[in-house]
Amino acid sequence: MTNSFVVKDNKIYCNLCNDFVDFKVKSVVDAHIKSKKHQKAIELNSKQIKINRSFDRLNEKQLFLNDLVAFMTSNNIALEKVNNKEFRDFFSKYCKIR
Ligand SMILES: [Zn+2]
Repeated sequence: MTNSFVVKDNKIYCNLCNDFVDFKVKSVVDAHIKSKKHQKAIELNSKQIKINRSFDRLNEKQLFLNDLVAFMTSNNIALEKVNNKEFRDFFSKYCKIR
């Protein structure tokens, strides 16, 4: 993970572990990367990224639904039309929102 480390106050700071790492000795940095704490932080971080992506997809879907309802009601299209096969086929063909 390339952006895990940043230089802060002339020290290397691990964003994942929220801890400073002594960069003067390379073996200390290597040991930090291999440490259980850092590995666990990588694991947690990747889980958090997956959760954030799920929320993004959920928000995207909600926005789509809100816009769809606004579009349909303002054009006097009955909301039941979403159950129409042609209607659904059109959206599944042209909209990549699942
Ligand atoms: Zn770390």
